[in-house]
Amino acid sequence: MARTFFVGGNFKMNGSNSSIKEIVNNLNNASLDPNTEVVVSPPSIFLQTVRESLNKKIGVAAQNVFYKPNGAYTGEISVEQLKDSNIDWAILGHSERRTILEESDETVSLKTKVATEAGVSVIWCCGESLEEREAGTTIEVVSKQLASLKSHISDWSRIVVAYEPIWAIGTGKVATTSQAQEVHKAIREWLAKNVSDKVAEETRILYGGSVNEKNCSELAQQPDIDGFLVGGASLKPAFVDIVNAKQ
Ligand code: PEP
Repeated sequence: MARTFFVGGNFKMNGSNSSIKEIVNNLNNASLDPNTEVVVSPPSIFLQTVRESLNKKIGVAAQNVFYKPNGAYTGEISVEQLKDSNIDWAILGHSERRTILEESDETVSLKTKVATEAGVSVIWCCGESLEEREAGTTIEVVSKQLASLKSHISDWSRIVVAYEPIWAIGTGKVATTSQAQEVHKAIREWLAKNVSDKVAEETRILYGGSVNEKNCSELAQQPDIDGFLVGGASLKPAFVDIVNAKQ
C-alpha cells in the first residue's frame, strides 16, 4: 500500500490575526499537489478561525491537547473541545513541549491515547538531542519513546510519526538525507518488530528539522521519508513548494 505523502506546518507560537489570514489566503489560492495530505497547526487562539476560513481539503491541528475530558485544568484544552471546533488533528510530543514544558514520555503517550481514542489524529513527535546523537544513542532514544507510546495505544491508524532531531529544529542544520533515512528505516523496523508488519508498512514517518524549499526534494526521494513536519518555513509562501516536493 502506497503511503500518502504528508506535510504538516507547525506555526508554533507565531502569527497574528492578519499574518495568519494571509497564510490561509495563500494556501487557499495555491496549487497544491492533490496527492499530498496537508495539515497546518496554528496557535490555539487561531484554531477556529483557521478551520472556518481554510479550504476543507487542508487539515488543522492543535499544538497540544490535555488528557482529561474537562474540569479544573486551567490553560488546557480537551479533545472534545477540539472536536467541537472541527479540529481533527493534534501535534503531540514536540521536543519544545518535551523540553521546555517538561512533558514526559508518559504524559505524551497518555495524551496520544486519549486523542486517538476520541478520533483525533496525532502527529506524534520523537527525536534525539545533539548529545544523544554524538553519544550514538539516537535509535535507542527514539525506540524508548516509541515503546512508551506502544504501551498506551493499540490503534496506530490515527498516528503519523514525526522524526525530529532536536539539533535540527529551528537551527538551519538539516539532517543529511542518509542520517534521516537511517532513522526512518530504524523506526519502520521497530514498528515491524514490536507492533506489526501492517502498521510498519502503513504508518507515515515524517522528517522535521529545518526543512525548506531547497532541501525538501532530495529528502522526499528517500524510501522511508513520507513527508515533513515544517516549522519556520510553514509561515512563508515557500511552504507550498514543500507541499509540492514530490512533483
Ligand atoms: C518543528 O517545529 O517541528 C520544526 C521542524 O521546526 P523547523 O522547521 O523550524 O526546524
